[in-house]
Amino acid sequence: MKLDIPTLLFVNFIVNIIGLGAMILIWRRYGQRFAGLSFWAIHMLFQVIGIGLDISPHFLPEWIMSVFSNTFILLGALMMLIGLERFTAIKSRHFYNIILLIGFVFLFSYFAFRSDLTMRSVSVSMMIIIIEAQMCWLLLIRVSPDKRNMTRLTGLIAVGYVFVSLVRIILLFIFPIETNDFFKTGPASMVAITAYLSLMIGLVIALVLMVTYRLLAEVQTEEQKFNKAFHSAPYAVIITRVFDGRIFEVNEGFSKITGYRREEVVGKSILDLRIWARQEDRGAVLQNLSKYNKLNDYEINVLTKSGKEVIGLLSADMIEINNEQCIISSVSDITEQSRIKEKLREMATHDVLTGLANRRLFYDRFELALANARREKNEMALISIDLDKFKLINDTYGHAMGDLVLVQSARRLVDCSRRVDTVARFGGDEFLILLWKIKTHAEAIKVAQRILENFRQPVTIENQPISLSVSIGISFYPEQGEDILTLIKKSDEAMYRAKEMGRDIYAM
Ligand code: GH3
Ligand code: MG
Repeated sequence: MKLDIPTLLFVNFIVNIIGLGAMILIWRRYGQRFAGLSFWAIHMLFQVIGIGLDISPHFLPEWIMSVFSNTFILLGALMMLIGLERFTAIKSRHFYNIILLIGFVFLFSYFAFRSDLTMRSVSVSMMIIIIEAQMCWLLLIRVSPDKRNMTRLTGLIAVGYVFVSLVRIILLFIFPIETNDFFKTGPASMVAITAYLSLMIGLVIALVLMVTYRLLAEVQTEEQKFNKAFHSAPYAVIITRVFDGRIFEVNEGFSKITGYRREEVVGKSILDLRIWARQEDRGAVLQNLSKYNKLNDYEINVLTKSGKEVIGLLSADMIEINNEQCIISSVSDITEQSRIKEKLREMATHDVLTGLANRRLFYDRFELALANARREKNEMALISIDLDKFKLINDTYGHAMGDLVLVQSARRLVDCSRRVDTVARFGGDEFLILLWKIKTHAEAIKVAQRILENFRQPVTIENQPISLSVSIGISFYPEQGEDILTLIKKSDEAMYRAKEMGRDIYAM
């Protein structure tokens, strides 16, 4: 095969079609993600049309065909410039380029019409320099430094275009073209076409690499963002495989809460770690997950590495990683909140000084006991207890000692009653005991006697023996009343009677 200009142009045409295919593929694949890719494809299309017009049978006079062909090629170059600007998000106005291009068309037409091949080629090369120089400026200088690694190769290809066009102009001035048939312009044009062809191949490769580079950078940024969010989360995140319960990944929050380092747990099974403080939690969680595929705010007890128990709030969801079913769980440490909640509940229902039930809890317990007594036809007893001459103790030993006496008294009352009975402090030095279930009155009397006996022993506080006694009143359900207020009133009345009768006794 003879290597002549038509052959070279044909090769050029084929290569440009391949380039067009590549650009269309990239545009279809990443056009949503990156701007400007459609312009790259249009650039290649215009190149193909331009060269196509050059090599096609001339259905119009040669000079007109060459005007169209070269205008398409230069318009294509302008499209590439705009595409690159969009890709790098640096916009410019192209008013001057359009004016220049129109000027070029007139100038080129003039030279083409006069068959001045030298000036025709010079004007095309000039235009190429103008457009490609803007690409160099854009890709090597205007683009922000952190993106220059990405755009450098394409920028250098543009430098190549400028250089080749410059050399061509110089050569054209030194060796003007003698003939007026472009296909016979010989080695000089062949070298130029080959140079432009190589640059075109380089450009396609550079563009593909640029997109790859940017994709990679984005993936890395995404990964960094994800990693940061994953690890800086204030809760523990664990990803486990459904199939064998093996841990894929944990975050720093997991290490903070459980005390296990990442290296210690990845690859192990949750069961190996013995992290569940209650096995029934594990069963319930797995059951819920298999039923609903997710779980929200389930309270669990977690065993840390040091054996401490932490209360956690677990949420879990199913995800697929590398085609494997996995569970992503997050656990926030609510130990402190639970403790405060428990404390608040305790404070709302218990006396702060003695820890006994308060009035509210006592009423609740009574309601429960009442329901039970009605159902089972039981009797109940209410015992009112008041310390004798407690003011005197306060006055003699001080209020702080008085408090300690109250605490000791509470303890004695608890000791004297059964586990199921409720002992409450109703304020001041007055206490109440609810006997849940009695068969005879004697049972309540026995408790009262035990209390009287017990209180006759002096309490020792800070090595100081303090003598005590109590007065007791008893009322019975259902004889004295069927509601709490009546029953308390009756037992109180009895207690006051005991006081009147000289204290340290019980009355009914
Ligand atoms: P009485 O035998 O008639 O019951 O005589 P008393 O001195 O025990 O009198 P009363 O039961 O009416 O008074 C209870 C006293 O308990 C009144 C108050 O000064 C004292 N008191 C009430 N609450 C507290 C407390 O929380 N701490 C201390 N140290 N004293 C209390
Ligand atoms: Mg008293």
